[in-house]
Amino acid sequence: MIYADNAATTRISDTALEKWCEVSRLCGGNPSSLHRVGIQAKRELNLAREIIAEAIGAGSDEIFFTSGGTESVNWGIKGMALSASGPAQIAVSAIEHHAVLRSASALEKIGVTCDLIPVDCQGNLHPCDIESSIKPNTFLVSVMLANNEIGTIQPIKELAETARRRGALFHTDAVQAVGHIPINVYQLGVDLLSASAHKFNGPRGVGFLYVRRGTPITSLLSGGAQESNLRAGTENVAGIAAMAVALSEHVRNLDKEEKHLRQISSRFCDEIRREIHDAHFNGNPGSSLPGLVSLSVRCVSGESLLHLLDMKEIAVSTGAACDSQSTQVSHVLRAIGLDDELAKGTLRISFGYENTEEQAVTLAREIAKAVAKLKTALKR
Ligand code: PLP
Repeated sequence: MIYADNAATTRISDTALEKWCEVSRLCGGNPSSLHRVGIQAKRELNLAREIIAEAIGAGSDEIFFTSGGTESVNWGIKGMALSASGPAQIAVSAIEHHAVLRSASALEKIGVTCDLIPVDCQGNLHPCDIESSIKPNTFLVSVMLANNEIGTIQPIKELAETARRRGALFHTDAVQAVGHIPINVYQLGVDLLSASAHKFNGPRGVGFLYVRRGTPITSLLSGGAQESNLRAGTENVAGIAAMAVALSEHVRNLDKEEKHLRQISSRFCDEIRREIHDAHFNGNPGSSLPGLVSLSVRCVSGESLLHLLDMKEIAVSTGAACDSQSTQVSHVLRAIGLDDELAKGTLRISFGYENTEEQAVTLAREIAKAVAKLKTALKR
């Protein structure tokens, strides 16, 4: 099996799984309980908070655990909207994940207007574009750190600086970036950052939201006083402890992993160029998210390619996994100006640290064979 769909989800690492089992077995208490079993669970929680905070250059009081990327993003955006006073506006990039886009449009019901910030043909957002999207009543700008379909990495530091200068706060959906590229929230200058464990070899259903100290965020969940009264609900202690282990493992190996992923992606692209002369690469191959390659070919369907590859025990994606049920052209590919034919012939390959160069070459050759097969069938 060649699994090259790591942007959809990653396999939980052995050490994260061990930690999950250990905490599940040995820390059976509720971290809010005052007895020693509860205190032991609370200790695991605090340790995880410190590890995660250190990994992104935050203070441990600025990390809030959630059920994953979708919740973090929803909370970051809607929680800020509920704190905004008067008729408000939010500006988000046109290539955000649906968690951001649909959170922003859900706010229309409470009178918040949403401005979509355009991107160029490689998915890059320029500070001058966000400048013109920020109005006097803009309470928040949300721009993802790395795109989940084409891998484009945004100049978040410059964008956040622009937002701050114009009086708006800044959220970044860093779900695809955390654990894969160096991140320091103070250097980036963001007020809020969303992350999800299953994108960096942690368990599914757990994530975190970084909230810069003093940021006026409103809680979305009513209930207990967990997470400093801001996120009610008994914490997923084992999942959180495993997430911390997975993240620290990635941060420790960041340079080595990035080098490996860039090397195999580059070998993959070379092989594709050799085999498929009209292949089109989306985004900024070479400087995008390590390991992510978005590839489009005319006159073939990405979905048919995916199924042919699946028969060869190769797992890739046609775009965002959460949208795999949708037959519509991806809003990301549309925003970068790809025509419908190319957009429909798009595959997203996302390598992980377990993939080898040999697998990358095999994958490229199998894609080329599948493309040739579909094109031959079309001629008949
Ligand atoms: N944001 C981005 C950029 C993503 O890629 C994803 C998941 O694919 C999410 C948010 C949602 O994260 P989760 O699956 O943890 O809810």
